[in-house]
Amino acid sequence: MEGVVLPEVEVNTYRKANPLLARVILNKPLVKKEDTEVCHIVLDADAMNYREGQSVGVIPPGVNEKGNPHAVRLYSIASLGSRTPGAEKLSLTVKRVVYQNDKGEVVRGVCSNYLCDLKEGDVVSLTGPAGRKFLLPVDEDIHRPYVFMATGTGIAPFRAFLQRLFRVVKDFREPVFLFMGVRYEDELLYDSEFRSYQKENFHYYTALSRQQKNPDGSRKYIHHVMAEKADELFPLLQNPRTLFYMCGLKGMESGFDYAIKAIAAQKGVDGEELLKSCQSRLESETY
Ligand code: NAP
Repeated sequence: MEGVVLPEVEVNTYRKANPLLARVILNKPLVKKEDTEVCHIVLDADAMNYREGQSVGVIPPGVNEKGNPHAVRLYSIASLGSRTPGAEKLSLTVKRVVYQNDKGEVVRGVCSNYLCDLKEGDVVSLTGPAGRKFLLPVDEDIHRPYVFMATGTGIAPFRAFLQRLFRVVKDFREPVFLFMGVRYEDELLYDSEFRSYQKENFHYYTALSRQQKNPDGSRKYIHHVMAEKADELFPLLQNPRTLFYMCGLKGMESGFDYAIKAIAAQKGVDGEELLKSCQSRLESETY
């Protein structure tokens, strides 16, 4: 993101050999259905100097099938930076991974199940913070339009970004768009918090892939909703100050290209040129 002034951040203060031992303060379900569970986990990690947008590593206890300690898993921080007065403590948004493999065996994700099973008072080994790029600009450069795009637990950093823009920064008046994709309405994460902002400059749109369909019958994803909002988004796409952030599933990347080109086509401008300009202002964290 050329010309954007990002804050200097600490990274890797804590490593696998010297992790931070963080106590669990809260573990509550955000979604709890037969096939889907997402937890909001709050840890006391105040000793770590992290910013919203950064991630922490979690070291699951025990060893893998080869007898080696488990690898570190990274999770985006879903709360304000630890040096922000009044911030909630370090929060993570974790989906319990359980699926059947090709052989019909039930596979349980090592770290997500460990985290979702944590009880208040348990102690977790953390590394980090990690990441120097997926950050909001410094306060002097923060007054810009933003487009945030999330799928599923990829919403985590945007919860933190929105808290900064709407609860910490004084008089933030630029437009902010949040596009959030999940399968069903009851899987929307932090939905009531986002709806509570009620600011004229906040535009929150959801795509419910298994509940809503496109005219051709296909699942509705966030890039389809973005294309539908061409009139609102076009001025932001053209504005060189607008920043784009994407977090979640890898497939979102081609979706971004689709949305920008679809909007360009509706507005009669060169899609490749508009896309190039938007991509130069895009930061992605997709897996
Ligand atoms: P998910 O439930 O699998 O998917 C969320 C939504 O995205 C569903 O509605 C899904 O639709 C839709 N989707 C599928 N393919 C898409 C595409 N190509 N473009 C746009 N939307 C698409 O999501 P999840 O299991 O929560 O996973 C989210 C991802 O975020 C994971 O890869 C995770 O590693 C990553 N992530 C997590 C964190 C964190 O801190 N926990 C941070 C950063 C990133 P259908 O299923 O109906 O097709």
